[in-house]
Amino acid sequence: MPPPLSVAYFTMEIGLRSEMPTFAGGLGILAADILQSCADRGVAAVGMTVRWRHGYLRQRLKPDGSQEYENVSWNPEHFLRRLPQTVTVDIDRHPVRIGVWLLELRGEGGHVVPVYFLDTDLPENAPQDRDITARLYGGDQAMRIRQELALGIGGVRMLRALGYGDVGTFHMNEGHAAFLTLELLRERGFADDAVRPSCAFTTHTPVRAGHDVFPYDLAWRVAGDNLPWHIRTLAGDDALSMTRLAMSLGRYTCGVSQIHGAVSRRMFPGSHIDAITNGVHHVRWASPEMRELFDASLPGWRSHPALLGQALRHLPDEPLWRAHDLAKRRLCAYVMDHAGMRLDPDVLLIASARRVVPYKRPELLYTNLERFRDVCRHSGKSPRVQILHAGNAHPDDPFSQEVIKRMVQRSHELKDCARIVYLDNYNPDLAQLLVAGADVWLNTPIRLMEASGTSGMKASLNGTVNCSTLDGWWAEGYARDSEAGWRIGPMALYMNPDEDRAVDAEDLYTQLQFEVIPQYENPDRTKWTERMKRAIALIGHFNTDRCVSEYQEKAWGG
Ligand SMILES: *Cc1c(COP(=O)(O)O)cnc(C)c1O
Repeated sequence: MPPPLSVAYFTMEIGLRSEMPTFAGGLGILAADILQSCADRGVAAVGMTVRWRHGYLRQRLKPDGSQEYENVSWNPEHFLRRLPQTVTVDIDRHPVRIGVWLLELRGEGGHVVPVYFLDTDLPENAPQDRDITARLYGGDQAMRIRQELALGIGGVRMLRALGYGDVGTFHMNEGHAAFLTLELLRERGFADDAVRPSCAFTTHTPVRAGHDVFPYDLAWRVAGDNLPWHIRTLAGDDALSMTRLAMSLGRYTCGVSQIHGAVSRRMFPGSHIDAITNGVHHVRWASPEMRELFDASLPGWRSHPALLGQALRHLPDEPLWRAHDLAKRRLCAYVMDHAGMRLDPDVLLIASARRVVPYKRPELLYTNLERFRDVCRHSGKSPRVQILHAGNAHPDDPFSQEVIKRMVQRSHELKDCARIVYLDNYNPDLAQLLVAGADVWLNTPIRLMEASGTSGMKASLNGTVNCSTLDGWWAEGYARDSEAGWRIGPMALYMNPDEDRAVDAEDLYTQLQFEVIPQYENPDRTKWTERMKRAIALIGHFNTDRCVSEYQEKAWGG
């Protein structure tokens, strides 16, 4: 018999490594970091997720900026172990068999957190049922319901089949997992009050379209008797909202930053929504050079990442600069290999990498090309600014693909004044190189739209200084230490998107021209390295170890 669990963490995606394409973006990366920190802290936790057969698609950029996407095939046997257990869930009103794979996460002290990957690709299932776990976010609404039934109901049944009888909290990482409540209802005589104490929920996006809402006729057709008779009182009158379902049957709900918590409370009036600000796993995202430096200067940081908070006092200037310089050279070599562009490691390098979606405003830097040229103006022969972009667009999103194409064309047009490269196939390995090798991390979301953002935390951990609008985690990071990076634009809410864009763009140019570039080019590096240390110190707070301790205290019952 497995021991009682403090938490079973349900998540539609998990980003443990680049070669396992079972994730799409930040949500999956966060799930992986949180479970790794559970392992480090010795939390009795398991992860429950899905073994996506095709995972996400791999992006390839052509020289004109147009993109091709190809399926990444991967062999789960390289990373996972198949277990003998299977369970059955009624989907489309017939039984579908679900199998399971295991991966074990080992923590700093040796404690193991098992992660289970559900899989309908079994020979006894009909071809259309085998495809339920084929593609993450890859189908229509009916497919999404099937996938969520497999994760939620299949996941609870699988835990039982694996012998987990006693589970303190079923954690829903995003509304995708909310059907788990239906299985608990069934187990507990359809008494809401018997389910509520066992469930907690994290909502991840302030974008309405990011919340799953299904028409009831479709939900009944696909989910059938899995839905209890009183589903409308739980999930909404007009349509089945997974977010409402999760909140109705959870005792605790949180957003992923303070601002996001407040925005979520406004989106769902009358709800109690707290906030636990995201973090990153401090060992996973530190470059090898930084790990070595922290080992030497902040001993104990691996098990107590709060020690990073003492970076300003304890990190020596020269070794810090050297560690950063090595990571930067590694990144420059990668860019040479993959894009054929020679970067100069002694010239300012700005990186801006993320999923390409409109609210992140990837083109803000190119709003006013006259101003851009003005900022980049240099006296010598070689440019004084180098910029790296990366990020995938959804293959069914021609609008975002067009954005990438325009950015690639900009990089050609502007080559007389700045070296600009768009790198393809953004994934955790590339993220790792970028966050550690750049000097400045640029992030330009529209205020209130970025729930948290974690790439900026990864950068900060490596002494790469953030320059960002005050949204998500950076509003908190900047409030903690305004010398740890730069802000773009004011804190206040704005009038309209066009005015905001103009104001933010102008402020970005001003920051670069009068603060960032001159400070970087100052031969006396003291001020810059101090900023780097302050950036690192922020991650004494913005790490998943602190995040998990907050979850333990507030969401998982101590
Ligand atoms: C960290 C990470 C993300 C999330 O970063 P954001 O700040 O939310 O853009 C997305 N994709 C990859 C590959 C990452 O490593």
